[in-house]
Amino acid sequence: MSPLITTEDLAFDAEHIWHPYSRAGLLTDHSTAIFPVVGAQGVYLHLNDGRRLIDGMSSWWCMVHGYNHPQMNAALQQQVEQFSHVMFGGLTHKPAIELARKLLAMAPEPMHSVFFADSGSVAVEVAIKMAMQFWIARDRPEKNKMLTVKGGYYGDTTGCMSVCDPEGGMHHWFTGIVPEHFFVSRPDCRFHEDVTEQHTSQLHQMFEQHGQRLAGVIIEPVVQGAGGMHFYSPQFLARLRQQCDEHDVLLIHDEIATGFGRTGKLFACEHADVVPDIMCVGKALTGGYLTLAATLCSQQVSRTISDHSPFMHGPTFMANPLACAAGNASLEILAGGGWQQQLPMIESALREGLAPCTRLDTVADVRVLGAIGVVEMRRPVDMAQIQPLLVKAGVWVRPFGKLVYVMPPYIISREELVTLCHAICSVLHGLESC
Ligand SMILES: *Cc1c(COP(=O)(O)O)cnc(C)c1O
Repeated sequence: MSPLITTEDLAFDAEHIWHPYSRAGLLTDHSTAIFPVVGAQGVYLHLNDGRRLIDGMSSWWCMVHGYNHPQMNAALQQQVEQFSHVMFGGLTHKPAIELARKLLAMAPEPMHSVFFADSGSVAVEVAIKMAMQFWIARDRPEKNKMLTVKGGYYGDTTGCMSVCDPEGGMHHWFTGIVPEHFFVSRPDCRFHEDVTEQHTSQLHQMFEQHGQRLAGVIIEPVVQGAGGMHFYSPQFLARLRQQCDEHDVLLIHDEIATGFGRTGKLFACEHADVVPDIMCVGKALTGGYLTLAATLCSQQVSRTISDHSPFMHGPTFMANPLACAAGNASLEILAGGGWQQQLPMIESALREGLAPCTRLDTVADVRVLGAIGVVEMRRPVDMAQIQPLLVKAGVWVRPFGKLVYVMPPYIISREELVTLCHAICSVLHGLESC
């Protein structure tokens, strides 16, 4: 058990530590703004005051096997006793080799080379840089623009920001700082809908007009995550692949949120039977234990770049052995296949459990895909109001904007899902009537 967190600690935190997307040093009542964690086990977070919360967020998509997993713990302990870090320039090690082997065995057929990155954002930066260097190597340097759809989220570094949703990513604050790329509307065909000309005409137009300047297209396959928790028809991905092939443009899939089973398939692109030229993975890669991501690419991409020049990227903590050991253990657990039994149960329990929300006037839409459940409100939720109510109801759910959403650990039980969904529905119901 880790030491308790004191009021003094919390005051220090509020004054000196940035949290994600937060103001620093301005909080007066930090007790409602931030919840101190002293432990975590299975699907539960243990708070300072002894309360246990069902983690509906998997700590932002990562903790798929749950907290304090014996097999994960053992793998890390074993690696700590060998070595925790060595530089990756000029050196290599078994944890990285094994992890690359596993990733390439799981990933769609053309994936051939692995670049280990230290976070999802870095993996996306690397993917964009790969696309740029590919066309430099092909002596087509004018192909240096990206195309993407609105409503996307690819990370917080400047390269990533440039392809994130222009409004959600506050591009107007950063004019002249983030590079300008091309956008089309987000695919507005729902998951089970057929894609029609109407859904793709803007895309076709964009390729006709700017195809000559495009290095790559980047997209989150099937599920747009933090940009709006939007699910769209896999057929859109097939059309996109077609256009990329016709116009000599590389296709990048960002599977950082969707990868490793979250949508019911190992990778979301499998819903569409479409393969990318470059793909990014992260988040659940290490079962949430350590920060690690990877950019995979086809042999055509890695060969073209490498025949021309070195690939210009090399993070200090590239392929950190501890992170790779966590990755290996996490992928072994996934290979055990338990998630494949769990996913349909989670999907049906979320569908059933969140259905009552559809009756609320404040709710615009309820949607579920794989182990992702979304309640979209008509208006943005008041975080200061809703967060303590959810905690009081025994669940950790962190809404943003109009979205109250969950993506629980794969090990969650049906009973825990009932509790999780019931908590959400009753909190939203309570807020409606007040
Ligand atoms: C979280 C996320 C990222 C960024 O990953 P970080 O590890 O936070 O840098 C990129 N793309 C998608 C789709 C994500 O969900």
